Amino acid sequence: MISNKNLSKDIAHGGLKLTDLVVQAKALKLTWIQRLYTTEGRWQDLYKIIFNESELQQIWELDTKSLIHLSKKIKNKFWGDILQQWAQYINKINPTENVLQYPIWNSFFINNPNLAKIKNVLIINGCKKIKDLYNKENRSWYSYVEFMNKFGRINALDYMSVIHSIPRLWKIHIEQEIFINENIMPIWLTDIITQNKVCKFIYWYVIENQTKQDNYNNEITWSMELDLDFDVRDRVNWSNTYYMANRATLDTNLRTFQYKLLNRSLVTNIQLRRFGIKESEQCDFCNLYAETYEHLFFYCRHVRYLWSDLENWLRPNLVMIENLTVKEIIFGYRYESVENNLMNFIIIILKKYI
Ligand SMILES: [Zn+2]
Repeated sequence: MISNKNLSKDIAHGGLKLTDLVVQAKALKLTWIQRLYTTEGRWQDLYKIIFNESELQQIWELDTKSLIHLSKKIKNKFWGDILQQWAQYINKINPTENVLQYPIWNSFFINNPNLAKIKNVLIINGCKKIKDLYNKENRSWYSYVEFMNKFGRINALDYMSVIHSIPRLWKIHIEQEIFINENIMPIWLTDIITQNKVCKFIYWYVIENQTKQDNYNNEITWSMELDLDFDVRDRVNWSNTYYMANRATLDTNLRTFQYKLLNRSLVTNIQLRRFGIKESEQCDFCNLYAETYEHLFFYCRHVRYLWSDLENWLRPNLVMIENLTVKEIIFGYRYESVENNLMNFIIIILKKYI
C-alpha cells in the first residue's frame, strides 16, 4: 500500500501529484494568517476582538511550542485552529537566509529543559531573536558577561547552551555576513505575505517538506542495501530515477509497479512475514536467502538466468551492453538517455513478471 503522502509528491520526487486534501485544508487555513498580517482597518478591528494587542504581536514572534500554547487560550475555535497550523508551519522552516531574524526560542533547536524555565524572563528582557545574541560591531557572539549585561543574570551553562544550540550552518551564515538586512521581514513571513497564491504556495511547501524527509529515508535505505557509493560520481540522480518509468512506458500498471518498487512498498515475503501472513521471509524461488528487493530482482540464482538470457538475446540483435548491474535493474539502465527507454521498458516488464 502506498500512503496518501506518497501519492501526492511531485512526479520528480517519486509521487503521482495527486492533491492531498488534508494538506490542502491546512494551507487554506494559513491564508488567514496572510490576511491577518496584510489587511488594514476594519478587519484588523475584528481581530482585536479575538486577540489582544500583545497576542497579535506574539503571533509573529513566538516559537512553535509557545504558539500552540497560545492557540489553546484563544476562545475562538476557528482562530485557535489557524494558530495551530501556523505553529506547525513555522516549525518546519529551516531558514538559511536571514537567520538573524529567527526566534531563538523555537523549540526545534533549543532542547535544554532549563532554558524553557528561564526563557520567559529572557524574552521580556529583549532576548528574542538570533540577532539579539550577536554583536554586529565586533562581529562576534556576545560573551557570557556581555549577555548578562544585556539580559540579566543567567547560569553560565545555560548561556552556553543557548549559543551552542544555534545550528552550525546558521552561525557560518551569520559570521560570514550572508544575511541581508536584519530589519527586513523574516523569510518565512515574507514567503507567506508576498505570495499571490498563498494557498498553493503553502501546499507545495508542506508537500515538499514531507517529501524531503520521506525520500531521504527511502534513498538512504536503497543506498545502504545496494551499497551505492556515496561518492559523487556514483550518486544516483533521484529525480531522473523517479521519471524513468514515465519515460519508458505509458502503461499504468508498469509505471505503478516501478513506482512501488522505488518507494519500497512492493510486498515481498519480508513484508508478508512482518504482517504475520507468511512464516518465512525466504525467497520463494531458491528458499536460501531473505526475499529482499535486490535478491528477488537480481541476486537470486533463478533470476540470474533471466537477465543473462536477456543480455545474450540483446547482444546480437540490438545493442552492445555490458552485464546489467543490480543498480541498473532496479533503477533503470542509463535512464538519463532517451535511447535506453526501450531497454528500460523491457527491464520493467521482466521485473514485473518475476
Ligand atoms: Zn532466491
